[in-house]
Amino acid sequence: MDLKRAIIDLMPGPLVRTFAAPYISGKGIASGVAKADELHAKLGISSTVDLLAEEVFSREDVEATVQVYLRMVEALKDRPFASISLKPTSLGINESEEYCQANLRRIVSAAAVHGMHITLDMEDRNFTDVTLRMFKAIRDEFDNFGIVLQSRLFRTSEDIKNLHAKRCKVRICIGIYKEPADVALQEKPDMKDKLFEHVQLLLQHGHYPEIATHDEPLVRRCMAHLDQQGVAKDAYEFQMLLGVPRADLQQEIVKRGQIMRLYVPFAEDWKYAVHYLKRRLAANPAMALMVMKNMFGS
Ligand SMILES: Cc1cc2nc3c(=O)[nH]c(=O)nc-3n(C[C@H](O)[C@H](O)[C@H](O)COP(=O)(O)OP(=O)(O)OC[C@H]3O[C@@H](n4cnc5c(N)ncnc54)[C@H](O)[C@@H]3O)c2cc1C
Repeated sequence: MDLKRAIIDLMPGPLVRTFAAPYISGKGIASGVAKADELHAKLGISSTVDLLAEEVFSREDVEATVQVYLRMVEALKDRPFASISLKPTSLGINESEEYCQANLRRIVSAAAVHGMHITLDMEDRNFTDVTLRMFKAIRDEFDNFGIVLQSRLFRTSEDIKNLHAKRCKVRICIGIYKEPADVALQEKPDMKDKLFEHVQLLLQHGHYPEIATHDEPLVRRCMAHLDQQGVAKDAYEFQMLLGVPRADLQQEIVKRGQIMRLYVPFAEDWKYAVHYLKRRLAANPAMALMVMKNMFGS
């Protein structure tokens, strides 16, 4: 274990919670629903609500997670401004692809009844193939299912070209996981140039890009280019994480008449949330620094 990881593992839960507090709506589904309502009513912002879960291994825990997602569908079904995001490692991928796919299908089919959109988050490169396979199989059947692709991976342009004959909503982001140089770009400016290319490639292939970045110059570059190309404003949207301070930019996007969507995680159990957040901190130690900067405005 490296030193950085060891230090993060030793961080007390309350400290991790302090770092993470701006990014989480609170405890329980109701906190996610309340945050989605508040963002929509006050700011015209849409949400994608997510259960912050530790990697789940036992069938019992996977089933409990599925049940939370099914309750989320019920709780959010009358809110067209809200969607749901979920992760394969919370839904049985550690047991088998078939099992995970069956669980995903249960949630997507329940949401489909209400026309509610579900996004399959993308985890590290070891899960890319299986996540795409499960996505494609379920997308064959359901229109309310989208996926995430990561611009840092060399494979992503091909993945876009081979994604699906049907129109897909695709969250395109640089990717949170550090990946080795044989499979991924290593420098952020290169990842962001690639993201800009991927947005255009997605549109060319008939998909709907959900541009997920907090990088203001990149957001502006996308807007200017897509406006200049005459791309309709409802052919794509922007996404950011709850808690990252981009209020002015978000309002500008809303005023353009476009969907601006925030990722709104809630915790069912702080213990699991803390484990999960420690992994995120280990994957991206700069996050702690960013939170400090955001909190103290330096
Ligand atoms: C809605 C949404 C969903 C996502 N889903 C996935 C996913 O499924 N899989 C995946 O691998 N990645 C996902 N990501 C993460 C994404 O891949 C990037 O790691 C993350 O957005 C940071 O990249 P950036 O483009 O914002 O650029 P950066 O250069 O990393 O950030 C630009 C600036 O934004 C601010 N900022 C960025 N991130 C944070 C943060 N966490 N806390 C505080 N300030 C911050 C900082 O001021 C930073 O300087 C998601 C991101 C968003 C917005």
